[in-house]
Amino acid sequence: MFHVEHWTIQISYNQLFNPVLKMEYIKSKIRDVIDFPTKGIVFKDLTTVFKDPRALHIIGWDLSQMYRDKGVTKVVGIESRGFIGGSILAFELGAGFVPARKPGKLPADTVRAEYTKEYGVDVIEMHRDAITEDDVVVLHDDVLATGGTMAAAYELVKSMNPKKIYINFIIELTALNGRATLPADAEVTSLIKY
Ligand code: AMP
Repeated sequence: MFHVEHWTIQISYNQLFNPVLKMEYIKSKIRDVIDFPTKGIVFKDLTTVFKDPRALHIIGWDLSQMYRDKGVTKVVGIESRGFIGGSILAFELGAGFVPARKPGKLPADTVRAEYTKEYGVDVIEMHRDAITEDDVVVLHDDVLATGGTMAAAYELVKSMNPKKIYINFIIELTALNGRATLPADAEVTSLIKY
């Protein structure tokens, strides 16, 4: 059994248009799971946001508002939690969706990047033909922690020479300073900061 901190508030349709209340509502739906997956980690669980229709709607809308006028052609979602927000973002922007996956999952020719995690090395892969030089890309994941995963995904996308790459998260854990790991020339946005 994990110890779970979870509180909730109600929101009316009109209150959806109040930016402060809206964000409080989303925050109230994020579940903190203590000591998951290992001791000392406070895991920001977004399944409790995604299962709430109103919260899901707010997330999809607010994420897409950040990129409406940017000419985005592809959204890259990082496996696996980045697939959820990434797909919604792509749909809202009228862009295509591209998965960045764990090794051995993609069926066709891939490019890969290795990155160091707390214990050992991890790998992320994308299809070699996923991005073209005409693309404007948003790279999306649910949570920015140390930034290692996103930095590797960025290098992969960059190697395919798109016109522009944006980086986006739903949640940013500022205490871990993940932005410092991300390339200085990338425009990074997050919806909620802790
Ligand atoms: P990072 O340390 O930024 O490379 O994060 C690695 C992956 O683990 C990202 O895809 C995050 O979604 C996830 N992650 C890391 N820390 C947390 C956390 N405290 N809560 C939820 N997800 C996390």
